[in-house]
Amino acid sequence: MFIFETHFHFEPGWDAETYRRESEEAGVGHLLCIGGDYETSVAAKKFASQSVNAFFAAGIHPHDSAKYLEDISFVAELAKDIKCVAIGEMGLDYYYEHSDRKSQIFIFEQLLDAALCLGLPAVIHIRDKDGCENAYHDACSLLSGFAGDGGCFVVHSYTGTVAMAESLLGMGAYLGYNGIVTFPRAANVRSALEATPADRILLETDTPYLTPAPFRGKQNHSKYLPYILSAVAASKGLGEEVVKEASTRNAFRLFKKCRTKYQSTHN
Ligand SMILES: [Zn+2]
Repeated sequence: MFIFETHFHFEPGWDAETYRRESEEAGVGHLLCIGGDYETSVAAKKFASQSVNAFFAAGIHPHDSAKYLEDISFVAELAKDIKCVAIGEMGLDYYYEHSDRKSQIFIFEQLLDAALCLGLPAVIHIRDKDGCENAYHDACSLLSGFAGDGGCFVVHSYTGTVAMAESLLGMGAYLGYNGIVTFPRAANVRSALEATPADRILLETDTPYLTPAPFRGKQNHSKYLPYILSAVAASKGLGEEVVKEASTRNAFRLFKKCRTKYQSTHN
């Protein structure tokens, strides 16, 4: 069974075929390419069109929210493509605050609505300033409404508290873990991981960011996902095969089941 890479960004200038082949040789056979604005969502769609095992998500990263206050229609337009299996990324980033909070919340709400209308899961990004939980709290209240309306989602690159993980899991959330799990100082993330049942864990690299140990300092790549799998398994006290099977099954459950539902309502 192949590992499912549930979150990476394909950078301009990279060769899609080489990227896909190097990932597959490392045992990473399913690739979900994430968009964060119009250009990268179109690029993600193109990446997905080149292989049967590649998919994409169309969305607006909280950093870019302020640019799309007038019109987010490209997201629903791209989501018509059969390979689009999620809306995202979307969410709140109060660490950088590249877009003001009001714009971030406005776009986040609209994208959650779009995900509901389209019957697709949402890929969520949440980041706070160190020691704060405002972004998680604001996101949590929006997500509880979304989940109450039947929406399903993953909080990618989970870095919140154990208590927050428990609230999100209570809404049916999946939590995405990446190279941060291999960082010596990330004890809080490993605690959250311990509180996350195996049937809610998704694996991701978040390429080109967050390169896992022992490759820190190098350019990240989906081919490094086995190192994250290893760290997650060690932290959970589970075998690597168990975590591999569970996380791949989880990804198919979250992304494929929703897509099937979407197709049946549009046929
Ligand atoms: Zn991302």
